[in-house]
Amino acid sequence: MTQQAAETAAIPAYDDNNIFAKILRGEIPCDKVYEDDHVLAFNDISPQAPVHVLVIPKGKYTNVTDFGENAPPAEVAALWRAVAQISQEKGVAADGFRTIANTNANGGQEVPHFHVHILGGRPLGPMLTRRD
Ligand code: AMP
Repeated sequence: MTQQAAETAAIPAYDDNNIFAKILRGEIPCDKVYEDDHVLAFNDISPQAPVHVLVIPKGKYTNVTDFGENAPPAEVAALWRAVAQISQEKGVAADGFRTIANTNANGGQEVPHFHVHILGGRPLGPMLTRRD
C-alpha cells in the first residue's frame, strides 16, 4: 500500500447517515449534557459505567485521525475543554475517569463520527482485557 493509500484508508469518507450525524441534525433525540458552538455531549445509550458520556465535535470528522489532522485549533480546543468541564460537572474528575476514542476496525469503532467516551463513577479496572 502506498503512503497516500494508507492515509486515505485511515480516514474513511464521512457517512452522513451515521447515527451521530442524525443526532446533530436533530433527527434522533439524545440525552444532552453539554453543547457549545463546536461540541455536543450526551449520555451513552448503553452505559458501561455510572458516568458514560460521549463528546463529539459538530464538524464532520470520521475518527481521531481525521480530527487530529484536519480540525481547526478552535474545534480541537473546544472538544478537550468540554471533556474537562463535563468531567468536573459529572463529579468524576477527582476520583478519576477514563477517556476512550475507538478508531477504525481494530479499535472497535462502531459509529464513524469522531467521539470521546468519558467513563467514570467506579474503579474501571485494567485498561484492556488480556486475550492470551
Ligand atoms: P464506539 O464503539 O466507540 O463507536 O462507540 C459508539 C457508542 O455509541 C456506543 O457506546 C453506543 O452505546 C453509543 N450509541 C449508539 N447509538 C447511540 C445513541 N442513539 N445515543 C447515544 N449513544 C449511542
